[in-house]
Amino acid sequence: MNFVKKLFQDLAALLFPNLCSGCGTDIYHGEAFLCSKCLFTIPYTDYHLHPDNKVAKQFWGRIPFNMAMALLYFKKGGKVQNIIHSLKYRNQTGLGVKLGEMIGDRLSLASGYMDIDLIIPVPLHKKRKSSRGYNQSELIANGISSALNVSVNSDSLIRTTITDTQTKKGRYMRFENMKTVFSVKNRENLTGKHILLVDDVITTGATIEACAIELHKCGIKKLSIAAVAFAE
Ligand SMILES: [Zn+2]
Repeated sequence: MNFVKKLFQDLAALLFPNLCSGCGTDIYHGEAFLCSKCLFTIPYTDYHLHPDNKVAKQFWGRIPFNMAMALLYFKKGGKVQNIIHSLKYRNQTGLGVKLGEMIGDRLSLASGYMDIDLIIPVPLHKKRKSSRGYNQSELIANGISSALNVSVNSDSLIRTTITDTQTKKGRYMRFENMKTVFSVKNRENLTGKHILLVDDVITTGATIEACAIELHKCGIKKLSIAAVAFAE
């Protein structure tokens, strides 16, 4: 998508909030953030039903974890990319909560996620959070929380350094960059707990891996992972 088109869509989203975040068409009374057509046709993974899914395989041998899933497949230029863009840059806070509820509804049907004690969003650095106004992963976590009736802890895991946009870095540099980015405050609040770690999009898994290493230092019981989208 070129810059002008993107800018126009961002403006349209501000001026006409009743447009679908997936396809940009008008949405009707009773629909929220996504039109019915998108809700039925966006590419769901059903990974919550398949423990050996591609997100889980991404983390095999890298970190100890219980379950891992993402709600949707992310493809460049597809509707899911529009949804993620709306979530991150168009101030669509309600969309984040809705996507979280969609994840939570699925996790409530999957046995591996039933004993979660605490939901922790991947944190933004506080400077980035204040310039964006919200942490999109926290919104997703709040939606999962209301569907599962499990509380969110968004102040124990913190991001201590701002990372540059990582898209142009090689895989190894991305991992090296993430090593010292996160830390945990009040570790005792996490000890012995089954934690659900929540992110917006999983690509290389470097962010999740770095968070998981810090969480495991607190003596957590189990770690599970959930995201809105998975980019292969
Ligand atoms: Zn739509």
